[in-house]
Amino acid sequence: MNVLIHNALIVSGEEAPFAGWLLTDGALIARIGRGEYVGERPRGCEVVDACGAMLLPGAIDCHVHFREPGLTHKATIVSESAAAVAGGVTSYIDMPNCVPTTTTLAAWEDKMQRAEASSAANYGFMLGATSGNLAELQRADYSQVAAVKVFMGSSTGNMLLDEREALRAVFADQPGRVVVHAEDQRIINEVTARLRPTLDVADISAHSRLRPVEACVAATERAMELAAHYGTRLHVAHITTAAETRLFDAADSPAGRQITGEVSPHHLLWCTDDYARLGARIKMNPAVKSAADREALREALRQGRLDIVATDHAPHLLGEKEGDVFHAVSGAPMVQFSLPTMLDMFEPTLTAHRMANCPAELFGIDRRGFLREGYYADLVLVERLAEPHTITDSEVLSLCGWTPMAGYATRHRVVRSWVNGGTGAMALRFRG
Ligand SMILES: [Zn+2]
Repeated sequence: MNVLIHNALIVSGEEAPFAGWLLTDGALIARIGRGEYVGERPRGCEVVDACGAMLLPGAIDCHVHFREPGLTHKATIVSESAAAVAGGVTSYIDMPNCVPTTTTLAAWEDKMQRAEASSAANYGFMLGATSGNLAELQRADYSQVAAVKVFMGSSTGNMLLDEREALRAVFADQPGRVVVHAEDQRIINEVTARLRPTLDVADISAHSRLRPVEACVAATERAMELAAHYGTRLHVAHITTAAETRLFDAADSPAGRQITGEVSPHHLLWCTDDYARLGARIKMNPAVKSAADREALREALRQGRLDIVATDHAPHLLGEKEGDVFHAVSGAPMVQFSLPTMLDMFEPTLTAHRMANCPAELFGIDRRGFLREGYYADLVLVERLAEPHTITDSEVLSLCGWTPMAGYATRHRVVRSWVNGGTGAMALRFRG
């Protein structure tokens, strides 16, 4: 099947947008051109008039929790990958804190098979590090395993790795890329013990005081020290503080960088002021921080101190988000609205660069993330709306059926996405 998309604004992320067209050949991009398409239309070719809408490389979301296996009352690969594609996310990398945890190659293989049978978007899976699975991590084939995930603070699941020696061992002898959730659990425990006696537990905003800036900075610094010492390739997930952004150098591309950083849409969108309005819907780990931190994150993304945007899509049922600050669970679904929201906040070229080009370079994803001839035709057509559209829970495709974006007025709408030119999802492949 071929598709000709014409009358589009081509937003590659690599150069200034231009009016043009794109022709696919099966799963691949065959040709891209400027202006009107004047060639012959291949036989049986579907012709799509973009009516001036933006054509971007499909977003690659390198941080999602699709909850399968074991937590499928919250989400499944079927439901969440459909939400991803509807939002212009054509590839994802899923995290290991499902049940059982993805800490053995057998568990990883099981997830690959599930995705092969049911995923609507291209897929990759990380392996989780525990204090006891070092041999398994070293045996893995990192052309197929996306990376090793290390939880330096407690999160959903049970893979906390903050014992110094265990952490050192993972960094010391690691053929794959190490991705860290960087929050220092000791600091969080100390702060919690100190604040707990006087805390108003009904106040969800206390979450940001219980998981303070210092916990993030200490853990990120520790991970960077270890990576520098051992030469480990390190990617720090969901950076939330101004102080951490200053630890990263500015760069246009993550290609060849040893240490890279990520930011999530919720930390770019919201800050502690928003708890009053959104409550537990924006309770996540790491917690949202101050308005000044949020501004620093936006600036760091523009400067290239932070390399990629990834959602940390973490669906829970709304019922699980009820209760006081110690009982409402942390995490929120974000994958369906990340691309339109980022287009609301940033230039289209920067958005395409940080949500498609750079994730592909960072993880060495084979022939994806770019609008280039010979690359896979992972594409998304996005229209800029004349009138803003207010997002509601009713349009959510995630199984949990709600979004923290409800009530937010977006100026962008995903018209259509193509995964491998419409031929269906594939496993991601990674270069060293
Ligand atoms: Zn996460």
